[in-house]
Amino acid sequence: ATFSALAPVVGAEQTVPTAAGEVRYANFDYAASAPALTEVASVFTEALSQYASVHRGAGHLSQVTTARYEQARETVRRFVGGRADDTVVFTRNTTDAINLAAHAVPGDVVVLDIEHHANLLPWQRTGRARVVAVQPTFAATLDALEAELARKPAALLAITAASNVTGEVLPIRALAAAAHRHGARILVDGAQLVAHRPVSLAGYGVDYLVFSGHKIYAPFGAGVLIGRPDWLDAAEPYLAGGGASAQVDLSGGTSWHAGPARHEAGSPNVLGAVAVAAATDAIRGVGFELIGYHERDLLARLDEGLARLDHVTALRIFDAPAEEGRPAVTDRVGIAAFTVAGHTAREVAEYLSDRHGIGVRDGKFCAHPLLRHLGHPDGAVRASFGLGTSSDDVDRLLAALAELGTD
Ligand code: PMP
Repeated sequence: ATFSALAPVVGAEQTVPTAAGEVRYANFDYAASAPALTEVASVFTEALSQYASVHRGAGHLSQVTTARYEQARETVRRFVGGRADDTVVFTRNTTDAINLAAHAVPGDVVVLDIEHHANLLPWQRTGRARVVAVQPTFAATLDALEAELARKPAALLAITAASNVTGEVLPIRALAAAAHRHGARILVDGAQLVAHRPVSLAGYGVDYLVFSGHKIYAPFGAGVLIGRPDWLDAAEPYLAGGGASAQVDLSGGTSWHAGPARHEAGSPNVLGAVAVAAATDAIRGVGFELIGYHERDLLARLDEGLARLDHVTALRIFDAPAEEGRPAVTDRVGIAAFTVAGHTAREVAEYLSDRHGIGVRDGKFCAHPLLRHLGHPDGAVRASFGLGTSSDDVDRLLAALAELGTD
């Protein structure tokens, strides 16, 4: 069977130069940054054509712009099943959102050693991070996390929902329940999840969720932190400046707003927020059912193809399901990381680009501890895909890898 792209993305027909002439670009780097959906690009362009200042302007266009910005928060809240009183802060990206959270969390934070650096370094810098080593199965990992939470109280468990290296999707409900059993909250790094699987903060018991616009088919520059208001309202403003302050007093009596404004000093990225909201609308329009079918079909094709290549080794964090009745990792988003015998990851990536016009990523994917854990401290190749990917793209990647051989 063949599978076409599920939704049109910007630049889908772009050609690139290769040793064999111009070929259509096969983009296998969606996990880093997904191309904008054409629908999102039109909303963005339309918003760009008529916008003005936000929040303090009295003119008509200022009012329209302010309304669009505030509406974007509501759209995002609905998309991720947020509670009515959750605060939705627009940030620059996931990294920025986690740095903001690290600034607001009043206590220790437990993390796993498989995290993207964005969900590791901000916590490490607070001096209150406790790192738990991942175990061969998810059930054993959950036990290790619970043991650490039981050993010493923590304010927060901060954990990825889907690995940016292997695509493995972690059972979020089980993690949230475990954190709560020990009096901790949970922050979920949804950077690799929210464009691929439905999330419900209220339904899953997730206290905080972060993600980036550029990984959900919106442009660069806008991300989201959504979650419980109390810690955010109690924290010092993330940035000091206009918009965050309620009353400014030169003798030191400055007071600050509560809510998202507290952490959004300065003129916000209105168009970025509008684009993020448009992307969530577009994803909902396609629907997670279809997204799931498309992605699983392509992933099965890619996995089976890779398994047939003797010189290719696929990377996984977790072994297949452990004991009956225990939570396990059974799902993956559209990411496959692998190594090729006889070639460095860099050589493979350059070969795919220069000879075949295929764009993958190589390296350590901002997850050095995980790559060491997987036994590939020097890096691997990562092919990741999404709504604009077809089975033809996957077949091209597999054929190119088959041709590469080991010498
Ligand atoms: N967390 C995960 C799981 C990611 O994959 C990424 C991006 N590779 C980030 C965080 C950081 O996202 P950003 O670069 O948009 O801040």
